[in-house]
Amino acid sequence: MLPYGQGRSYGDSCLNDGGKLLRTAGLDRFISFDAESGSLRCEAGVTLGEILRLLVPRGFFVPVVPGTKHVSVGGAIANDIHGKNHHRAGSFGAHVRKLELLRSDGEAQELGPDDQLFQATVGGLGLTGLITWAEIALRRIPVAAVRMEAIPFAGMDEFLSLSEESDAEFEYTVAWVDVLSRSQRGVFFRGDHAAGAIHAPRGQAAVPLDVPAVNALTVRVFNAAYYAAQKLAGRSRLQHWDPFFFPLDGVAHWNRLYGRRGLLQFQCVVPTPEALRALLSEAPPSPLTVLKRFGPARSPGMLSFPRPGFTFALDLPNRGEETFAQLARLEALAMEAGGAIYPAKDARMSAETFARSFPRLGEFSAHLDPAFSSSFWRRVHR
Ligand SMILES: Cc1cc2nc3c(=O)[nH]c(=O)nc-3n(C[C@H](O)[C@H](O)[C@H](O)COP(=O)(O)OP(=O)(O)OC[C@H]3O[C@@H](n4cnc5c(N)ncnc54)[C@H](O)[C@@H]3O)c2cc1C
Repeated sequence: MLPYGQGRSYGDSCLNDGGKLLRTAGLDRFISFDAESGSLRCEAGVTLGEILRLLVPRGFFVPVVPGTKHVSVGGAIANDIHGKNHHRAGSFGAHVRKLELLRSDGEAQELGPDDQLFQATVGGLGLTGLITWAEIALRRIPVAAVRMEAIPFAGMDEFLSLSEESDAEFEYTVAWVDVLSRSQRGVFFRGDHAAGAIHAPRGQAAVPLDVPAVNALTVRVFNAAYYAAQKLAGRSRLQHWDPFFFPLDGVAHWNRLYGRRGLLQFQCVVPTPEALRALLSEAPPSPLTVLKRFGPARSPGMLSFPRPGFTFALDLPNRGEETFAQLARLEALAMEAGGAIYPAKDARMSAETFARSFPRLGEFSAHLDPAFSSSFWRRVHR
């Protein structure tokens, strides 16, 4: 069996071909909230979006959020997710104070950061048992707005100096790169929780059908238009938190743009700017190529993906063997550089790459629940 959150992982780490899935959507209760300390205890199927909807109006925010709010607390812990503030806040698991783990022998254990089983469960890909509830330290925010800047840059040198400068001054930083431009131009986004309210609710656009809209031509047109639009919108804006953190959530069924065969995402982390440059020079056309510098924080999980360096992610329409070969090339570059591939975004890494990406795999394996497995685990573990 395998716990299943909101199924927002891109590959097979949340799937269990031929086995059972423990759907956690019914574990959806808030248990307690201490407004003095910001400590929230809730069941593991509660989504980050539900927490934000309830607690942003009371002046609190989830300490680490990914690019979609439709993920469960259990899924966020089991992938030890990261956000645009990794350089300040580290990964999600660093903000988990306690959790309850239900093992297949029927024993429920309350665990804290000093417990080995906690460290195996954070980033543990749902393989150590079912997280039933967790206690998370939320952060205070003044109002529901973000003061953000979008800064066009001309190439990697500018990206690196913007990262350096911005990580010191801003809580949230991330960059989009136009891999089709010869100069590797892009837009650097940075922001902080702001003072000054924004009340306008955001509308939702929808992609109606499975239209195979992403191809080399549309990527070129999209990239040029996106770059120009960001330039035109101006450098500094006050924005509602929702579109700032979760731009894709505003386009219902955005994945349908990739057609019926869907998309593959690739994400790795590499330790040096040179390795990042090598990845970018090999990157195939993608409308979404994202860079971020991870900070020095040590992630709490034995299999946590975030570590110091640069993370590089891109979406590719699934064209079968051709796409798998492109991903293999990117994976080889990440491995040569001593990097790691992110299991939450993976559909193809080898057992060898998995072992090289996660040196504490042996230690982790001692904490597996014998009744738990996943399609991903059977693929990457020999
Ligand atoms: C648009 C988009 C943007 C994203 N951006 C980011 C990003 O910026 N950073 C990032 O790190 N990730 C990002 N992700 C990936 C996403 O955050 C992770 O895959 C997250 O773990 C998904 O949570 P989920 O609830 O959907 O879990 P699922 O995908 O359903 O499951 C993920 C893992 O958690 C385990 N699990 C789920 N619930 C439990 C439980 N109760 N107990 C034990 N194990 C459990 C599952 O077995 C599985 O191994 C993004 C995904 C999307 C679609």
